[in-house]
Amino acid sequence: VDACLERIEATEPSVRALITVMADEARGAAEALDARGPDPAKPLWGVPVVLKDLLTTRGTRTTCGSKILDNFTPFYDATAVTRLREAGAVLIGKANMDEFAMGSSTENSAYFRTANPWDADRVPGGSSGGSGASVAAGQCFAALGTDTGGSIRLPASFCGIVGVKPTYGRVSRYGLIAYGSSLDQIGPMTRSVEDAARVLQAIAGHDPRDSTSVNAPVPDYLAGLGRESLDGVTIGLPREYWGEGIDPEVATACRAAVARAEALGAKTVPLSLSLTDYAIATYYIIAMAEASSNLSRFDGVRFGHRSQGAEELIDMYTASRTEGFGDEVQRRIIMGTYVLSSGYYDAYYNKAAKVRRLLRQDFDAALAQCDLIAGPVCPTTAFRIGAKADPIQMYLMDIFTISLNLAGLPGMSLPVGLGADSGMPVGLQLMGRPFEEAAMLSVADCLE
Ligand code: GLN
Repeated sequence: VDACLERIEATEPSVRALITVMADEARGAAEALDARGPDPAKPLWGVPVVLKDLLTTRGTRTTCGSKILDNFTPFYDATAVTRLREAGAVLIGKANMDEFAMGSSTENSAYFRTANPWDADRVPGGSSGGSGASVAAGQCFAALGTDTGGSIRLPASFCGIVGVKPTYGRVSRYGLIAYGSSLDQIGPMTRSVEDAARVLQAIAGHDPRDSTSVNAPVPDYLAGLGRESLDGVTIGLPREYWGEGIDPEVATACRAAVARAEALGAKTVPLSLSLTDYAIATYYIIAMAEASSNLSRFDGVRFGHRSQGAEELIDMYTASRTEGFGDEVQRRIIMGTYVLSSGYYDAYYNKAAKVRRLLRQDFDAALAQCDLIAGPVCPTTAFRIGAKADPIQMYLMDIFTISLNLAGLPGMSLPVGLGADSGMPVGLQLMGRPFEEAAMLSVADCLE
């Protein structure tokens, strides 16, 4: 813990990954653990962990990267946080993020921009960019992120670390401040596959406080690690993920990783995820609709920022939300309200819900032909700060990540080397069958 706190002090001036450093709490927790001695019942005993700042932490400020929650100190822990504490982890900081997890670069934070530790002129990815940068900069041994449409996998890919988005329902969302409730999942971001397996082990499992958490046994995620070959594993390569529009340096690094898998004994099969072209439109309709509904609770009365000086109640709501929410969040609330409004609901929201079902069927058919699907996480490596000023250009970064959230399936980013042109990390995405994270982790570990 002391080493991580020193590392935070040394790297924060340039990286700026953390909104809150929990130095005193972390030292106190570490001393308490030390006093009782190592405990085999606590598999993360003494491990310093960073949390994305949308996971509620009892007594520690939780901002969601937004001014509207600038003064919000929750009085309860998210279930994933409770489970980390029970496993012996030491919480050391709360990570910067795009406001309400809306973005792909962490540039939408209301607080500050986070730099990519590999190159300070580039973004760390988003929306869990603070979590990714913190792990990559060596400030902690693991971070939790959330993935609604790629927000664990994208920053993991851009920062050269491992990031796992579990199956929808695998990890409790209790205490995760919601963006798109039918898409959000919490997952680990770490420097190795084994570390990711250990953290997932600690946080996964049923929680009566989240009715969408699945009541099914949690397998041993470490049991399948350490295999020497990929004999008997079939990897599907969707043509839509390996075709045009991908930077050559990304395609080259990902192809080399697939060739390595083949050399280790894996079989590859070409297949098609034919609805990929519709994924961005479908995702942004559903995510914005859910966001507009979820964010209605921030009214200046129950949580966070309240505008001073408004005379009527309605004016107070309007002024609090106008002052508290940033541009991207306001844009999404407006669009989400529009697609849910009567007269447009059938044309947009309902249509998107139907395409979502077809996307899942597409994945089910693909995963009947293979054990795992592989492709790039993103068409490019980490881009330069300010390079995607147009929101549509930013949304296009999500082309390969968002289908998985719409389908509810597990996926991960595995670092597979540096791009030959940019010198920045490239992530290979592996996508698996529902609740088969163990199989995915075991293949990733062998490839690592
Ligand atoms: N780029 C996606 C969005 O802005 C990322 C969402 C996420 O996974 N939190 O909606």
